[in-house]
Amino acid sequence: GRQFFVGGNFKMNGNIKTIKDIVSNINNAKLDPNTEVVIAPPSLYLLLTREHLRKGIEVAAQNIFDKPSGAFTGEISADQLKDSGITWTILGHSERRTILEEKDDFVASKTKAALDAGLGVILCCGESLEQREAGDTVKVVTKQLKAVADKVKDWTKIVVAYEPIWAIGTGKVATTEQAQEVHAALRDWLKKEVSAEAAEKTRILYGGSVSEKNCAELAKQADIDGFLVGGASLKPAFADIINANQ
Ligand code: 13P
Repeated sequence: GRQFFVGGNFKMNGNIKTIKDIVSNINNAKLDPNTEVVIAPPSLYLLLTREHLRKGIEVAAQNIFDKPSGAFTGEISADQLKDSGITWTILGHSERRTILEEKDDFVASKTKAALDAGLGVILCCGESLEQREAGDTVKVVTKQLKAVADKVKDWTKIVVAYEPIWAIGTGKVATTEQAQEVHAALRDWLKKEVSAEAAEKTRILYGGSVSEKNCAELAKQADIDGFLVGGASLKPAFADIINANQ
């Protein structure tokens, strides 16, 4: 079986005090020991988070640049994260793809750079409402992953996060059927385009308005191996989502 995985994406939220409070909540919560937990604060608070967070829970950046060092003002490399004890990064989040106009190919070269440096990658994909209504969901998400498969053969340190854009921050969670359908299609695609082993072993997370109320139903689906949580990861209820698979 695939180990259940829950990521917390704080996005551009929090300050020293609130992030210390969130970390202390997580440290004191009773968490399912079988769930792998990774939290992603804004880059400014990565070290503070690593310093205060209990062992066994990893910290992720929300983005990296695809070069190891150099004249790239404002950017952070995978090597620098590794050096600071940050072992994961989120890549290809829809907010970066849309607001910062990141292209599939750029997300793919960042994924390669992260893996080369030894980081784990939470690789995001997802369709807009318009794309879903046009019946293009599977086409869109597999195209996003194909760019990565062209550059990366070893998927053992990649966790895929399916995040329909229309479900992010809207309170409009995908139905269990909608999510399961896309997760199964992604697993099929992995089998065809990467390997049978990648299809069997790669965790596929659901993200988009996950809450303590809807997580248990979603967690029961055969191809949903965990969650990437935005808003609810800032609240004590995050612990209930971590424990959704119990
Ligand atoms: P919400 O859980 O706030 O909808 O955000 C989901 C997300 O984008 C996680 O990366």
